[in-house]
Amino acid sequence: MLCEKFDNPGKVSFTTIPTKSDGGMTEAQALERFAKQAVELGKLQELLSAAGTHALLVVLQGRDASGKDGAIKSVAGAMNPGGTRVASFKVPTPEERAHDFLWRIHKQTPGKGEVVFFNRSHYEDILVVRVHELAPKAVWEKRYDDINSFENLLVDNNVIVVKFFLHVSKDEQERRLLEREANPDKAWKLNPSDWTERNFWDNYSAAYDDVLERCSTKDAPWYVIPADNKWFRNVAMAEVLIETLKPYKAEWKAALAKLGAEQKVALDKARATAG
Ligand code: ATP
Repeated sequence: MLCEKFDNPGKVSFTTIPTKSDGGMTEAQALERFAKQAVELGKLQELLSAAGTHALLVVLQGRDASGKDGAIKSVAGAMNPGGTRVASFKVPTPEERAHDFLWRIHKQTPGKGEVVFFNRSHYEDILVVRVHELAPKAVWEKRYDDINSFENLLVDNNVIVVKFFLHVSKDEQERRLLEREANPDKAWKLNPSDWTERNFWDNYSAAYDDVLERCSTKDAPWYVIPADNKWFRNVAMAEVLIETLKPYKAEWKAALAKLGAEQKVALDKARATAG
């Protein structure tokens, strides 16, 4: 595996994990590998979609400019758009705020046969909310357990849950922000808070440590992706998704065979009674 997996609660200090990796590949090799992975990923998604027995939820978290958009564009781009969706979670609206924090999240979870990418997620409610004290500790402290229960519920209902933390360095983030500023085609993405949030870098690190420590479970694991190299990030994420979906292949093929057999009976009957 090209990245670190967290599937057990336990003490974590993710800042010791490197933000930059090449996995022993050159950029050209990585691009070639990703092209092959994209084909495999596309086939797996088609199977998931046709079998209709499971859903896939991909949660993406990361600091500003960590590449969440780019990762979704590349990885979701390998799949049939008909079966995939992206849900982006911003500052909650008054209506969203009037409900429990999982209300807006639950509505966007994938149905059977569907793949949904979360660009930010319910984890913001124990990250930005904690770092900026948007709610009292007594409120956000309970959310770790709520999130674990919520993700358990999804898993119990055949949602495959994969959570990625895109891990970038402070220097790389600065480079990307300056690059955005200098490029009129990218400047629209910038927000003054992208700079001011850097003052809270260590607070976010501590908050992410707690997320990984308390919300890593066997069935809803976290993967920390060294994300300074975008080409490595894509390969590492694709690898995780392929390895996660592959074990379901036989089951999905069996479901398809069953559907095919049922359809054949219906077709035979229809043909026999057709004029
Ligand atoms: P990029 O990472 O590429 O800069 P972005 O994800 O920051 O893009 P924006 O629309 O600029 O996209 O930011 C969304 C903002 O909404 C983030 O600052 C995030 O922390 C905030 N947000 C998301 N969920 C919540 C929440 N539950 N409570 C408060 N703020 C939230």
